[in-house]
Amino acid sequence: WEKRVTKSTRHNSPSGSPLTVLVTGASGFVGMHVSLALKRRGDGVLGIDNFNRYYDINLKRTRAKVLSRAGVFVVEGDINDVHLLRKLFDVVAFTHVMHLAAQAGVRYAMRNPNSYVHSNIAGFVNLLEVSKSANPQPAIVYASSSSVYGLNSKTPFSEKDRTDQPASLYAATKKAGEEFAHTYNHIYGLSVTGLRFFTVYGPWGRPDMAVYLFTKDILKGKQITVFESPDGGSVTRDFTYIGDIVKGCLGALDTAKKSTGSGGKKKGNAQYRIFNLGNTSPVPVSELVNILEKLLKVNVKRKVVPMPINGDVRFTHANISRAQRELGYMPTTDLEAGLKKFVRWYLDFHSPLKNKNVW
Ligand code: NAD
Repeated sequence: WEKRVTKSTRHNSPSGSPLTVLVTGASGFVGMHVSLALKRRGDGVLGIDNFNRYYDINLKRTRAKVLSRAGVFVVEGDINDVHLLRKLFDVVAFTHVMHLAAQAGVRYAMRNPNSYVHSNIAGFVNLLEVSKSANPQPAIVYASSSSVYGLNSKTPFSEKDRTDQPASLYAATKKAGEEFAHTYNHIYGLSVTGLRFFTVYGPWGRPDMAVYLFTKDILKGKQITVFESPDGGSVTRDFTYIGDIVKGCLGALDTAKKSTGSGGKKKGNAQYRIFNLGNTSPVPVSELVNILEKLLKVNVKRKVVPMPINGDVRFTHANISRAQRELGYMPTTDLEAGLKKFVRWYLDFHSPLKNKNVW
C-alpha cells in the first residue's frame, strides 16, 4: 500500500517545480480528468475516493483502472476517515490538495440531505482539519458550484454577486464549504481557492446529468422531457467542456501560493480566492436536445413541461473575467464540438462489441 502511494506521487517532470497533489474524488468525472492531466505533465498524484453507489459503480471502477494504467493510484477510502487522511499526509508531503470529492446532484438532495452534509460539509471540514495540521500545509483548491448563485436573477453571475439564496440543499452544502474554507484561511493561514464549476460535460461524464441521460434515452427511442420555466421561457445552462475545466483547475493549482501557517498555527496573510469556471455562452436545454438529435441521427420525441420545484434554477451564465485575468482561463470548446466527443466516448463505452478489458 505504502509503496503504491509513494510510486504514484513520484515526480516525472523534466523541469520546473513539480506538484505533489492529493486529488479527492479521483474516480469521479472531473477527478479522473484532472488526475490524468497532472500525471501526464509529470506531477505526483494520489487519488482518494469512497466509490459510493450514487451512480454506476462500474463507471467509477473503470475510471480508476484508466488512472492506474497511467500510474495514478486511487486509495479506496472516505474523506471523513481522519486516520486514513493523517496516514496519507504522514507518508507524502503534499504540496497541493485538489478537492473534488462530493455528493453531487441537485434533485437527489431533496430526498437524501444527510449524504450531502456527510461528504460536502463534514468530509470537507475533516480534510481542512488534517491539511491545517500537516507540515508542510498544502495549498487547497476545491470545487464549489454555480449553484451557489441560487435564485439570483442577475446574469452573468460574477464572483461578487450575492450567494445568500441557495435554491437547493446541494447548493447550501457547497456554500457552507466555501464558508469553512474561508474561515480555515483566515484562522490557520491555509491557502484556499474555490472553483465554481458551471454544468460540466464530456467523455466519462456523469450518468445522472442531462447530457448523459438525454443521450441514453434518445438512443432507446424514449420521449425526452424538456423543462421550461413557469413563465414559458427556456431553461438555459452554461455547459462547460471538461477539457476547459481541467485547464482551469491546473491554472488554479499552478498559481496557488503556499499556505502561511504550519502545524495549525497561522503565520501571515494566506491566499484566498474564488473563481467562476464556465463557458460564458448559455444554451437553452432544447438546443442541447437539437444538437444531440443531429449527432445521434435519431428523431427525438419530446414533451415540454413546466419546470418542477426541485432545486433547479432557470438559468446559469458565468462571467469569467476574473479567472481569465488571474488563471489564464479561456474556454475553447463550443457545445457541438464537446458533445461530439462525448457521443463518441458514450458509443464506444457502451458498445456491446467492446472488450471491457481494454479499459
Ligand atoms: P462525481 O460524483 O463524478 O465525483 C465525485 C467523486 O467523489 C465520486 O467518485 C464519489 O465516489 C467521490 N466521493 C463522494 N463522497 C466522498 C467521500 N465522502 N469520500 C471520498 N470520496 C467521495 O462528480 P463530479 O462531476 O466529478 O464533480 C466533482 C466536483 O465538482 C464536486 O465537488 C461537485 O460538487 C463539483 N461540481 C461539479 C459540476 C458538474 O457539472 N460535474 C458542477 C458544479 C460543481
